[in-house]
Amino acid sequence: MRDLTNEIVELIRRTSSSLPKDVEDRLRTSIEKEAPGSAARGALETILKNIELSRANSTPICQDTGTPIFYVHYPVGWSTIQLRRQIRAAMEEATKKSYMRPNAVDAIYDKNSGNNLGGDDFPYIHFEEVEGEELTIELMLKGGGCENVGRQYSLPENTLGAGRDLAGVRKVVLDAVQKAQGQGCAPGILGVAIGGDRGSSYIKSKEVLFSEMGTRNDDPKLAALEEQLTKESNELGIGPMGFGGKTTVLDTKITGLSRLPASYFVSVSYMCWAYRRRKMTVKGEEVMYD
Ligand code: SF4
Repeated sequence: MRDLTNEIVELIRRTSSSLPKDVEDRLRTSIEKEAPGSAARGALETILKNIELSRANSTPICQDTGTPIFYVHYPVGWSTIQLRRQIRAAMEEATKKSYMRPNAVDAIYDKNSGNNLGGDDFPYIHFEEVEGEELTIELMLKGGGCENVGRQYSLPENTLGAGRDLAGVRKVVLDAVQKAQGQGCAPGILGVAIGGDRGSSYIKSKEVLFSEMGTRNDDPKLAALEEQLTKESNELGIGPMGFGGKTTVLDTKITGLSRLPASYFVSVSYMCWAYRRRKMTVKGEEVMYD
């Protein structure tokens, strides 16, 4: 089987140092909404300068290079054992090259492995076999600060008056944004999963963050709620990095899952402005990066 280690190192470099265009464009548009000379505008200008410098120098966009989350869609015939080895080798190499900060800390012994390799789940790798000839590897780097402000709710949530319906979902998601304030390094992007069990709900709330900025759910009800939550989050006045202002959330992505009759979970994954996600596609001998 083909060795893609070097190509995956390049995927990691691009993800860590070069923010996707759709995210950068959205940040640039947001600047115009903030008053000249305001702290909010200053914060966005600093963020954008940082993005340009990191891209030019191949240095991490943020000192926290985050939890590496890989989604691999592979055609019949590829070995997931080999792909896992290659991804882990690439992660070690990318850490040596300082594209990644050593981020894997053993939770029991409080020891940093120094190479971004922990147990089987660090880096986190999700495999899925697909039809066709193309192999795709997507990578998301999820910062720790924004991960800390993610929340899960079990509806009904009486303290918020949130019942088991979309009106209740709206209330708890806005509560999560309000509680996060600037601590998730706003402006953020919200990944929301409705339903599932506690585990699947959190996983899907992150998975939905792989989609492009502005992608709306096919279900018109959920698409409308996505728009509404972005708008209402921005009316909370939290602003970039919590400095106040009109830009608190850049986008909201919602996915609906099946649930048990007894449960109604809503999981909110908060992604910071350093919304690092990239994709590589392997087709025959060709390797392409998005
Ligand atoms: S939350 Fe994001 S922007 Fe903030 S420190 Fe972590 S990675 Fe950096």
